[in-house]
Amino acid sequence: MQMIGLIGGMSFESSAVYYRLVNKAVRARLGGLSSAEVILHSVNFEEIVALQKAGLWDAAADRLARAAEGLERAGAGCVLICTNTMHLVAEPVASRISVPLINIIDETATVLADRGAKRPLLLATRYTMEHGFYAERMRRHGIEVMVPDADGRTVTHDIIFSELCAGEVRPQSREKLITIIEKAKAEGADSVILGCTEICLILDPDNLPLPGFDSTTIHADAAVEFALAGMSNTLAA
Ligand code: GLU
Repeated sequence: MQMIGLIGGMSFESSAVYYRLVNKAVRARLGGLSSAEVILHSVNFEEIVALQKAGLWDAAADRLARAAEGLERAGAGCVLICTNTMHLVAEPVASRISVPLINIIDETATVLADRGAKRPLLLATRYTMEHGFYAERMRRHGIEVMVPDADGRTVTHDIIFSELCAGEVRPQSREKLITIIEKAKAEGADSVILGCTEICLILDPDNLPLPGFDSTTIHADAAVEFALAGMSNTLAA
């Protein structure tokens, strides 16, 4: 089994979900008390948020690249940036390591394409919904994302940063997100991407007005697929 390198802390609420998901997936595949080989570099999110707000993406890229280099030196066979937003700097980070950086956008797009989804609503931070990097990368896979209107984007962004990243899950916020999904469905969306790694804390992708795709689960599953490649599904392997 290869070691999975996680760059987390963005926020730690979602990193905890990743940790659980990769371990559960390895146990399901290998059985018994099997668990994943994982190494986590958890950053101070407040520092990253300050760089995001200031638009200092090169500095943020350097910060995450140094974490990625450390994970590689420590033996990681692959690296994951455990946030959609920070995939804005995925390419410069990937260029600083020689092990694969498993890209959350590519992995999510592949699952959507396999399921025949073509016009998903993207629920994410303002950076992910508005900066263009996410939509552009999805387009390479033939997928055209929709985003909520300006009010919907503000509501979604605020729920992520003020509540979910702070460990709060409010039923009224769930209702607001469902209303945004229903509006997008009426406007032609065929699916919805939980395109922020905390949204799975508040929305169940299997219980939405549209078929849901959780980026956290898809990303964690891709890491396990990589880590176990070539191994058979038995404890003896
Ligand atoms: N975890 C979130 C995401 O997937 C937001 C936190 C961040 O800004 O990195 O985008």
